[in-house]
Amino acid sequence: MHPLNIQYHYIDQEDQMLLACSQLKTASVLYIDTEFHRESSYYPKLALVQVLGLGQCYLFDPLQLEDLQPLWDLIHQPSVVKVFHAARQDLECIFHYSHKIPYPIFDTQVAASLLGYGSQIGFSPLGQCLLDITLNKEESYSDWLMRPLTESQKNYAACDVLYLEPMYQQLILQLEKEDRVAWLHEEQDHLYHPDIFQVDSKQAFQRVKGFQKLKGQRLAVLRELALWREGLARDKNMPRRRAFSDEGLIQLSRSKLPTLEQMLRFRGISAGHIKKHSEVLREVIAKGLACEKSDWPAVLHYHTPSRGTVLRQELLLTLLKLRAYQENIAVELLANKKDLMAIAAWKSGEEMPDLPCLQGWRKKLVGHDMLTLLEGKTCLEIDMETTLPNIRKNA
Ligand SMILES: [Zn+2]
Repeated sequence: MHPLNIQYHYIDQEDQMLLACSQLKTASVLYIDTEFHRESSYYPKLALVQVLGLGQCYLFDPLQLEDLQPLWDLIHQPSVVKVFHAARQDLECIFHYSHKIPYPIFDTQVAASLLGYGSQIGFSPLGQCLLDITLNKEESYSDWLMRPLTESQKNYAACDVLYLEPMYQQLILQLEKEDRVAWLHEEQDHLYHPDIFQVDSKQAFQRVKGFQKLKGQRLAVLRELALWREGLARDKNMPRRRAFSDEGLIQLSRSKLPTLEQMLRFRGISAGHIKKHSEVLREVIAKGLACEKSDWPAVLHYHTPSRGTVLRQELLLTLLKLRAYQENIAVELLANKKDLMAIAAWKSGEEMPDLPCLQGWRKKLVGHDMLTLLEGKTCLEIDMETTLPNIRKNA
């Protein structure tokens, strides 16, 4: 495929936006990408929204347009399929700005993973595979909040949606041919739940570097401190670690209700931060210390698996690789090693753990075979005609 003729409309005025949105209203598919930064803030900062529809490419400039509502209304039409590549972060960004998650979507990265292109293929490698084009990646880390954007940045941004169209067209055909459209819906389903974009504040302590070294009451204190920091970072819209350091939180969790003087001696916390927050920090720590033992965060104990479990896991992995090969799909997509270990540790008669590989399309593809293999009802053998391993159901 030859490089496309890169043409776009740069939209930085209200009336242009209204016109563009009314023109795009009749499109049944929109190809969307966003550029945003989040290094210096808690929430993503939108820098550009690229939309392709009816053969026209538009670059919407959120730094110049005061109210993007007409654009969000367009995107949120339920009758329109929204195509993204690796949608999750784009969705998170759109959700933050418009308070709604686009529906329905088509994620080319997820579709590609169901068709043998690897589990998390990037936009450029997929362009290479499907369209035989080389996309330059020079601008991917450039400053998208700078104005004016350079010609090179705008071209790059436009390409992100221009090539999305032919990729989508190929992938949808392949999915239909392989009868995997329903799998795609299953895979994307979780992206429509706003919960996945909201931090579970009770679990925020698990983001603190070094939390594994604490347990019991100290972990209960860290949980309260991390919860407090989450709120602080959110209110100030700054990255968590800039709001308060991980090291500082760990230090505070280790000490029992320190005084201001003691806190000032801790490493990894600025004196300014301590002076500003010492009162509230003492309250937060006291709350953690008062936590009932039964409510302390549970620590996951890791048991060394038995030799039998390890061997069964190896056998399951072989089955998994064989099925992945037969079905032209990434092994990683079928099950991870942790889940395999859990299945390998399962004993007949016990309740089976609730794992993704034992549900939906995965169950049909591998889950069922894994269970019957463990029950001795299925075996692996070499097929003498193909000389490849084969799955055989015992009579
Ligand atoms: Zn992009």
